[in-house]
Amino acid sequence: MFNSLKKKLNSWIGKEEKEIEKPLKKKSETKVIKKNKIKSPAKKIKTKKEDIEKKKGIFSKLSSKVKTSTIKTEHIEEIFEELELILLENNVALEVVDKIKENLIKDLEGVEVKRGEIEKMIAETLKNSLSEVLIDSPNLINEIKKKEGVYTIVFFGINGSGKTTSIAKLASKLQKEKISCVFAAADTFRAAAIQQLEKHGENLNIPVIKQDYGSDPAAVAFDAKKYAEKNKIKCVLVDTAGRMYTKENLIKQMEKIIRVSQPDKKIFVGESITGNDMVEQAKTFNEAIEIDGIILSKADVDEKGGTALSISQVTGKPIYFLGVGQNYEDLQEFKKETILKNLGLD
Ligand code: GDP
Repeated sequence: MFNSLKKKLNSWIGKEEKEIEKPLKKKSETKVIKKNKIKSPAKKIKTKKEDIEKKKGIFSKLSSKVKTSTIKTEHIEEIFEELELILLENNVALEVVDKIKENLIKDLEGVEVKRGEIEKMIAETLKNSLSEVLIDSPNLINEIKKKEGVYTIVFFGINGSGKTTSIAKLASKLQKEKISCVFAAADTFRAAAIQQLEKHGENLNIPVIKQDYGSDPAAVAFDAKKYAEKNKIKCVLVDTAGRMYTKENLIKQMEKIIRVSQPDKKIFVGESITGNDMVEQAKTFNEAIEIDGIILSKADVDEKGGTALSISQVTGKPIYFLGVGQNYEDLQEFKKETILKNLGLD
């Protein structure tokens, strides 16, 4: 993940550090210290050391006075040309790349730096702004445990994004934490979706509340919540339909599900491999129903990691979990350090 970006940033930072170190390690001065160590008393060594410190101080003051440059938009644009390609190759959405550039210009234009350190400054500012975009997973399990009564989570996302599988994986995780669950089969558009959820229910020994194919999904979610209250089940996990996500009727339907089931969390599930497309979907869902967070499925297939960055930037919402395979245990918490580490930015 992000290997080329990591190399690029490190090469800039590494190169510039060497340049700074050079004048401070004057060979002749180092030799004087060694000589004194062998032949002279300690007092004399101390004086020499002080001398060197003094010289260093004067040198750095002089160099910063004489050798400074002002960062201009052209500098950032020139350097960013290379970065832009690397970010795009790593699945970072175009609008996010533009935003990163805009922020860099805003933060750096007109800043004075030592000459030769413009690239280093840009790389470091980039690190900081990427780090600010990413948010660690909030602790969902603690939040569920803390709430009195039933906790409801509704899952949204287009068909095939991994919604049903993610619901089953989360249920399995919750069971391990002794949190009981019920599934609501509110994707009533597809008979296969109801069957798929029933299969997971059987495997995990979780009740599934369903109605006939084509029935009102909000009613299914409502029934499941009532069932949970009656049977002292802690968590209701609602599967919804994802077809025609841009169409108004689907948005109306999602709004109705939310109005009726009053969820504690609205989670958008998106495939990390779809990159730009997924970012657009997340935006559409977020504008329509204001999501609380994201599950990024199929992160095991995506080698790049730019989608996590993009979706965090575009929605400003946390990634709760990463789907990393097709088994029940393949659901990991999202740690921003992992992405930063992959970038070489930790
Ligand atoms: P839904 O239509 O949104 O409910 O999507 P599904 O849950 O049916 O998932 C669609 C396909 O993606 C299925 O074949 C899943 O096994 C697969 N899938 C879901 N999550 C993951 C994941 O994290 N990694 C991988 N490799 N496959 C996944």
